[in-house]
Amino acid sequence: MFEKIVPAPPDAILGLTEAYKADPNPNKINLGVGVYKDANGHTPILQAVKRAEERILAQETSKTYLGIDGSPAYAAATRALLFGPEHEVIASGRAVTAQAPGGTGALRVAADFLARTQPGTTVWLSTPTWPNHPNIFRAAGLEVASYPYFDSRTNDVAFEAMLETLRTIPAGDVLVLHACCHNPTGVDLSSAQWAQVAEVVAERGILPLLDFAYQGFAQGLTEDAAGVLALTRPGQELLIANSYSKNFGLYSERVGALTLVAATPDAAQAALSHVKQVIRANYSNPPAHGAAIVTTVLNDAELRRLWEAEVAAMRERINTMRHLFVETLNEKGVQTDFSFIARQRGMFSFSGLTPEQVKALRERYSIYIVGSGRINVAGMTEANMDYLCSAIADVLATV
Ligand code: PLP
Repeated sequence: MFEKIVPAPPDAILGLTEAYKADPNPNKINLGVGVYKDANGHTPILQAVKRAEERILAQETSKTYLGIDGSPAYAAATRALLFGPEHEVIASGRAVTAQAPGGTGALRVAADFLARTQPGTTVWLSTPTWPNHPNIFRAAGLEVASYPYFDSRTNDVAFEAMLETLRTIPAGDVLVLHACCHNPTGVDLSSAQWAQVAEVVAERGILPLLDFAYQGFAQGLTEDAAGVLALTRPGQELLIANSYSKNFGLYSERVGALTLVAATPDAAQAALSHVKQVIRANYSNPPAHGAAIVTTVLNDAELRRLWEAEVAAMRERINTMRHLFVETLNEKGVQTDFSFIARQRGMFSFSGLTPEQVKALRERYSIYIVGSGRINVAGMTEANMDYLCSAIADVLATV
């Protein structure tokens, strides 16, 4: 049976890392995959994480299963981080949280939950979006549609076009929004724009699903929740798929959560019962270790301070690289205006490099960039900046 199978194409982003690893060029640079790297090009384990792990190792007495929806302490800590500890949705009990294996796991649980409880719903994704979004929702059997998001002329949000499409979305459809650090463009909505989106969502009866994979990477842990808070209105339903892969550096531990806000606590519990059935049929229950790390750090004043400082350091390093990149390109005499890169947020920017230029950077210089021109700014370091900008200057002039 298997002999007839035609190979599927490799994952566009993870496939790039394979090629990068196999490249013998000592100057090679990987600006592809969405992983934070420090000034030495290394993806570190945070100190707060190491210290929490030491405690967990010394104290844990069992590896028994977690519940289907994971650790209650983790769920509570997650809600407090998303909404702030005093928020009405927490006090009222209309927010429920299921631990999930990473942000991807949370999105897939959300997708299966929607397919099960809202059959026929369409999921609206930004153009462009994280390439895995359509895969995840389609895999659950849902239809996907798209709304405009990025204006390549201004390198900013195409807000009027976005609103225009949002105003056509039928009641009951699902609107996926990147809560901050939009992947792949690096452009986010302003507070005023979030308020307008929240207005349209409420007016039309759209269900928002916030993908929150980069809390802390744009402006700060609290500041980055502005979009979530703008949409969390009295009585408004919403879903949030959050990830601790980036802000805790826990990529391989697979730590995320799906939080569901219903109009009432009873409705939230009823919805959670379906979320649990979805999880049971997918992976039964989530892995414990990463979630224990997050819970330990968030609930301990000293570890939390350390973690917040480490998140701030990652954010600031990326912003420093954004500015240095723009300055170094200027020094190399590049005429194209790249100043927008310094204004964008999170790990990614749409560089505007064409697929041909991306190809030339790879072939001539072993610089690996996703075909769309998305660059991971965290892959830049002071040490590789000169080489990178000289290479870009060359391909801009010759390709
Ligand atoms: N959503 C977006 C927009 C992302 O960029 C990512 C990771 O790259 C995820 C979700 C999923 O993250 P995780 O590794 O936690 O599954």
